[in-house]
Amino acid sequence: MTTNHHHHQLLTLLLFLLSTSTSSQSHQPKQDNPITRFQQFLQINTAHPNPNYYNPISFLITQAKSIGLTYRTLEFTPNKPLLLLSWPGSNPSIPSILLNSHLDSVPAEPSKWSHPPFSASISADGCIFARGSQDDKSISLQYLEAIRNLKFVSNFTPTRTLHISYVPDEEIGGLDGAAKFFGSREFEDLNVGFVLDEGQASVSDEFRVFYADRSPWGLIIRAKGGPGHGSRMFDNGAMENLMKSVEAISGFRESRFDVVKAGQAANSEVVSINPVYIKAGIPSPTGFVMNMQPSEAEAGFDVRLPPTADPESIRKRIAEEWAPATRNMTYEIIEKGPIKDHMGRPLMTATNDSNPWWSVFKQAITAIGGKLAKPEILPSTTDARFIRQLGIPALGFSPMTNTPILLHDHNEFLKDTVYLKGIEVYESIISSLSSFEGASDKKVTV
Ligand SMILES: [Zn+2]
Repeated sequence: MTTNHHHHQLLTLLLFLLSTSTSSQSHQPKQDNPITRFQQFLQINTAHPNPNYYNPISFLITQAKSIGLTYRTLEFTPNKPLLLLSWPGSNPSIPSILLNSHLDSVPAEPSKWSHPPFSASISADGCIFARGSQDDKSISLQYLEAIRNLKFVSNFTPTRTLHISYVPDEEIGGLDGAAKFFGSREFEDLNVGFVLDEGQASVSDEFRVFYADRSPWGLIIRAKGGPGHGSRMFDNGAMENLMKSVEAISGFRESRFDVVKAGQAANSEVVSINPVYIKAGIPSPTGFVMNMQPSEAEAGFDVRLPPTADPESIRKRIAEEWAPATRNMTYEIIEKGPIKDHMGRPLMTATNDSNPWWSVFKQAITAIGGKLAKPEILPSTTDARFIRQLGIPALGFSPMTNTPILLHDHNEFLKDTVYLKGIEVYESIISSLSSFEGASDKKVTV
């Protein structure tokens, strides 16, 4: 009797579900699912030099409302808003988790793309082509899709409060975005204990994870010397002095590159220095004056310091070998962000048992059958450095396996199956991190 009754109820429910799904299909031709939501988000052009930040924020607020997350916008710089979403935990007194991503993207050259870069077209094999599909609009929405599933499919309630931030200007250095936000009173009030930020695609089936960024420096060296006829040999000419420095820098660069080539270190683990411009010569209507040695010459270099490098020893090298005053040289170092944290420690997050968050993160990946590659230093730079500067542990992670690394490249794409798998990965990570109570008494700074 009871069984029959249940069968009847089930049948009614099935019929109801069938009828509603049929009617919703006929009334709403446009489907609403994780892939179509991802496409819609990718179709919002947030490329520099004029990223529109209000449109993606309004899209994300609609998503947040449909999931039942609280939201607020903060504007530390006019017209550069950031969005903060929150999912309150059952124990709001312990440190929270922050999932960060950026709203902006680098520009795209449509003529060099196989599909228009803001069309989010899907190829027959499921590749979604769009600027931002890897960097980093995938994680922006995967965070939300994972929370949607945890809330409505798994009926999960977090212990720790979870925050999601969408910041502007990451692609142009983050000084008006993440740097101001992470340095704000509003951020301090969130009592954040651990942060996940963007990573990079992996060409293998192992997920990549990043525990540090390299700090970028711009280095300009300038030489002065007496001008002279092109036919004369004399000492201390500006060009001669500059070329001696370029030679010394090239030697250093080669020695570092040899270590990489020998497989003793990854590209991102050594100090890199690459020439980006040389400015010298006296212009003439047809090019340059050829019989005159100029009195000034300069060269510019992109320098990247891994967290293990000693910035003071590099400064010393610049002052003594690369731009010595004894050779009439001067130099300028343009520091783009912090090198050490507020305690003077290298900007890196521990990836061993000393960091309890690391163990939780790692287990969450293996729990769903995922493989984690050896933790790496990111060759480039992200907003995570501003978090690590505060002494808060942060990992860079974008769950994209078997995917070519196409950030900032033409034809950036992400496969639909990889995107959907990433949502599952975040479900595991978010539920593990937000249930973790081990580091509850105080912030773990590692
Ligand atoms: Zn990015």
